[in-house]
Amino acid sequence: MGLTVVGTVAFDAIETPYGKTDKIIGGAGTYVALSASYFNKDINLISVVGEDFPQDYLDLLKKHNIDINGIQIKEGEKTFFWKGKYHKDMNVRDTLATELNSLENFDPVVPSEYQNTDYLMLGNLTPLVQRQVIERMKKRPKLIVMDTMNFWMDIMLDELKETISMVDVISINDEEAQQLSGKNTLVKAAKVIHAMGPKYIIIKKGEHGALLFGEGKVFSAPALPLEYAFDPTGAGDTFAGGFIGYLAKTNDISFENMKNAVIAGSVMASFNVEKFGTERIVELTEKEINERIAKFVELTTFNMRKI
Ligand code: AMP
Repeated sequence: MGLTVVGTVAFDAIETPYGKTDKIIGGAGTYVALSASYFNKDINLISVVGEDFPQDYLDLLKKHNIDINGIQIKEGEKTFFWKGKYHKDMNVRDTLATELNSLENFDPVVPSEYQNTDYLMLGNLTPLVQRQVIERMKKRPKLIVMDTMNFWMDIMLDELKETISMVDVISINDEEAQQLSGKNTLVKAAKVIHAMGPKYIIIKKGEHGALLFGEGKVFSAPALPLEYAFDPTGAGDTFAGGFIGYLAKTNDISFENMKNAVIAGSVMASFNVEKFGTERIVELTEKEINERIAKFVELTTFNMRKI
């Protein structure tokens, strides 16, 4: 089933306790689309970059069967730039710079061949743009999933809430769920966010896994315990890509199948943190992905009788 993704395509500069990068390819849209590309061969990406964005990076997306006709290249403008630094505890990071550049006046064009896709992933970027993409589809997709970030909560909360009211699933990290809801437990936060519109809430807890809330049920997925995590940048977006990529591939949006999709997201995120930036998720094989799915099954299966 077709999948359309919108999100930033960016330059990132990253510093973790294990190393530092100069401007490399990043962006929520990049991570989502690359991750989803392992599940789905029909992916469209809507975004904007400046004229400084290298052709090699666009070719990398194309190599992963990602249709990039929806990426606008703005002459005379610069690409969105984000700089982040992780603490020793890599669940904590400081954003050192967010330069919107070409994202500032981005008016998304949804090419006609994208307008009928059944699955829509609103990756992290301006909430107004996320909403415009929904409005510019010919028909409402079967499933709309969104991700967002504290940055947008801080500067355009009302705009963000309007977009949230239009989606089926929101994927958000624990701190952001607390900020958005004003509640300090995740169960309460999920209830408040549910009342804002989405039927399903995914709360990501970094190296502690993710929770899926919906239909009065909860599912808990672990993160794979890893000896080394070099760079968590994009883990949330990679998770989202695996989640929606799996749903689009199986074309089943029941709660039961969403559990599998949460595991697919966790599998992809576990790879992403193993190397810097997108390095790991551009080189994966189906065999590696299947082996890791098996590890998750092993990690979460037990056979216990009631006492
Ligand atoms: P994550 O680690 O999942 O939060 O995603 C990090 C990615 O999000 C980086 O590649 C950034 O380029 C991108 N990013 C950072 N800030 C923003 C923002 N305010 N809007 C959209 N994308 C962003």
